[in-house]
Amino acid sequence: MPRSPDSPQIDTVLREVAELARPRASAGEVADYIEPLASVDPDRFAIAAADLDGTEHVVGDVDDPLPIQSISKVFALVLAMQRADAADGVAKELWRRVGVEPSGDPFNSLVQLEHERGIPRNPMINAGALVVHDVLLDHCDDPRGDFVALMSELAGEPVGVDEEVLEAEGGTGTRNHAIANLMASFDNLTHEVDAVLADYVHACAVAMTTRQLARATRFLANDGVDPASGRRILSAPLARRVGALMLTCGTYDAAGEFAFDVGLPCKSGVAGAIIAAAPGRMGLCVWSPPLDEQGNSVAGHLALHELSERLELSVF
Ligand code: GLN
Repeated sequence: MPRSPDSPQIDTVLREVAELARPRASAGEVADYIEPLASVDPDRFAIAAADLDGTEHVVGDVDDPLPIQSISKVFALVLAMQRADAADGVAKELWRRVGVEPSGDPFNSLVQLEHERGIPRNPMINAGALVVHDVLLDHCDDPRGDFVALMSELAGEPVGVDEEVLEAEGGTGTRNHAIANLMASFDNLTHEVDAVLADYVHACAVAMTTRQLARATRFLANDGVDPASGRRILSAPLARRVGALMLTCGTYDAAGEFAFDVGLPCKSGVAGAIIAAAPGRMGLCVWSPPLDEQGNSVAGHLALHELSERLELSVF
């Protein structure tokens, strides 16, 4: 694996940041709405940084798989953008059905949806992701397979679904059902509510490691081109839009705080991972299961803040 000249310095920073951030996990609570997440070891901790030149910097449990959960929203959007762009154009297909404004509400809130006539604020909250999966049902013969294929391509190796998480998620989701039905009542879902929910939950249950997630984020730091394969995943303007949505909406109602503290496009998931794209530099993923009240990893937030400061990664 090639090593960039500043590799030793980055490795040291990762170690120091891990030491500092790891103990902060005790201030959070692991998600407990499904058993496989409730029973996870809260001391799991990992940081992975995947440079554009292929160098990987890692510390901690970087090869332990975790369900990507809401991080899937970024990649479902990417897949929908690819397909919609190739068909009628993204503006025509997507942005009339889902907005691009931060919600300032929890990720599974119903409140705005009623006021805003079934148009979700953005694709990074549950309602918006459900619309994205509805769009994927129009464009993909096998949306689940296509999603897993995209994640495998970006990870550089095959990834799969955590069957235990998938099954457990299937038994919950009353709120997601409510969201989907509310949108259907406003004609903003064109497929069966159950079919859309099943694909959304399947994407949430895809299992990846912190290392794989850092790799998968690299193309967003590289104008839409996966540096590992040289393949263009998205056009540069579309990749910039994904980054903008992550920055403004990717950490729910803490997006302002993340912009302030971290200054990078980020996306968090309820399993405690957060991805971040540092343009021109690297894809990042941090993982620590205990969450704060907004559903973002406590130690992960601190780790990203420290990494951004010490490696001067902020987009500002
Ligand atoms: N499966 C979770 C849900 O839909 C994902 C949410 C998250 O990661 N924030 O509620």
